[in-house]
Amino acid sequence: MDDFYFAPGSPKDDSDYMVTATALGGKVRALAIRSTHLVKEALRIHQTSPVATAALGRFLTGTLFLADTLKSDGDTLTVNLRSDGPLQGMTAVADSHGHVRGYCLEPVVETTYHRPGKLNVGAAVGNGKLTVVKDFGLKEPYVGQVELISGEIAEDFTYYLASSEQTPSIVSLGVGIDANGVTCAGGFMVQLLPGADEETISYLEARVNGGFPDVTFLLTEGFNPEKILDMFIGDKDICFLQGAPVSYQCNCSRERMERNLLAVGKKDLAELAEDPKGIDLECHFCDKKYHFSSEELKKLLEEN
Ligand SMILES: [Zn+2]
Repeated sequence: MDDFYFAPGSPKDDSDYMVTATALGGKVRALAIRSTHLVKEALRIHQTSPVATAALGRFLTGTLFLADTLKSDGDTLTVNLRSDGPLQGMTAVADSHGHVRGYCLEPVVETTYHRPGKLNVGAAVGNGKLTVVKDFGLKEPYVGQVELISGEIAEDFTYYLASSEQTPSIVSLGVGIDANGVTCAGGFMVQLLPGADEETISYLEARVNGGFPDVTFLLTEGFNPEKILDMFIGDKDICFLQGAPVSYQCNCSRERMERNLLAVGKKDLAELAEDPKGIDLECHFCDKKYHFSSEELKKLLEEN
């Protein structure tokens, strides 16, 4: 990998990161991510079956692309997918620091294939809706919702960006899986900036339809995110802006769980507090367990 170009800030080891660039005379914005480690972490936490790992891995990577527009500390972007396939749905949350966390509603589903080696994620997801919530700490969060196009995730994010954010985009997401687990994960996103002309649009369409290799294949071959964008866009004047780490991170805490408990309502919580065994809560995102004894629950009620 020594001969690859690295944008300022991009790690030169095999860790996960996102690189941003502009190209084609400033008419497009381009992003690429390597997310192998964070998808491995999702698999470790949730023990997902192969097709669920692929779906969740693509979903987490796509959520990081959408979250790139977040600017401030405390801003969050949540993507909810709810569907009628065996997977039932997924949720992912990202912040402005490249952190993402997520889960599948049904992590173990039967693995089916489009063709040998190509997992059928669309069949596991099925039909449904994709909802994006951007919370900038204002009174009302921004909410956008679309129907799923194929359940293959990348196409669904593409459709969301075009119809809900009016940003024509190309999104490619991939997760490589073998008998030992996740071999690679990542993707790229190219977006037309306002003022992009027909020529730029047809150029990019030709790139998409011209048999550009699968992103999973490129990652397997060891290409870094810069190289993948470089190859896809094919513009020698591509301008790489920066690279920044991305990772799987949960921000749950005992305090956060206490707030969730209080949100249940004091009357219901008082009933729960009567159970001498107390209650056990589990974080959906990292599976960390929190135990609250009956005494702790009563104290929580008194103090709030
Ligand atoms: Zn957690």
